[in-house]
Amino acid sequence: MQIGNWQVDLINDCWLRLDGGGAFGLVPKALWQKHLPADEDNLVPFSSTCLLLRGYGHVALIDTGLGYKMPPKMQNLWRVDRSAGGLIETLQTLGLQPHDVDTVICTHLHSDHAGGNTKLDEQGRLAVSFPNATYFVQEREYQDAMQPNERTRATYNEENYRPLMDQGLLTLLDGDAEILPGVEGIVTRGHTPGHMCVRISDGEEHLVFVCDLASLAVHFENLAWMAAYDVEPLHSLENKKTWRNWAIEHQAIIVFPHDVNRPVCRASIQEDKFVLQTLNERWVNG
Ligand SMILES: [Zn+2]
Repeated sequence: MQIGNWQVDLINDCWLRLDGGGAFGLVPKALWQKHLPADEDNLVPFSSTCLLLRGYGHVALIDTGLGYKMPPKMQNLWRVDRSAGGLIETLQTLGLQPHDVDTVICTHLHSDHAGGNTKLDEQGRLAVSFPNATYFVQEREYQDAMQPNERTRATYNEENYRPLMDQGLLTLLDGDAEILPGVEGIVTRGHTPGHMCVRISDGEEHLVFVCDLASLAVHFENLAWMAAYDVEPLHSLENKKTWRNWAIEHQAIIVFPHDVNRPVCRASIQEDKFVLQTLNERWVNG
């Protein structure tokens, strides 16, 4: 996709499977399984979508997926499938090496979005995945991730972000910010208090990576549908309303981070109803 001077590509770090109850929270299974059938273990398929932005002399990533350092036992639990290649292999097929990436924007620091920020080197030591990059995250998100509570602890792993801070590669944002030309991180609390969406605009074309404001397209179509992981569900609800209106007004392209069938859509109003049209855009590697 082209948004002004930015070439925007989707890369799926891996396929994975999550409990359907986690993905749909309070929504009865009888309703959600019509959209995303669960397997015999009640797991539903998720993608782990990262965005690659190339333009203005920059190579930037939005989110880094699950990453490669998760122990095999955990990978089995999440049913991690990299048969189509992960983030790093896919960058290589595009002629890019990790040291070419100069910017990494972290929507939030949950393990399935920030796991690829760091890696284990050949000696098994923790290392930064993109050593020439400046990483960006909201300060609130970083503070929450460094001091998780009993409920959020399972989704935050210091190994994914502390090394960035220790090496002076992490910039903490205090609210909305233009990070690259026409690329803004915008605070959208709900999934977490410091969660941000990333908007790319050139004044005519508009794209928003809503990230876990709406993990799946169906979460954006149904305002009351949200993942059980959201720590502030009523903020998610209000922010979804705001972003639906914005997307309609700007005929924006919307990218959903975990949707395996409808990763890229465009919103419209048809007969007074909010409708998402699925676009053909898919992952470079999938
Ligand atoms: Zn998340």
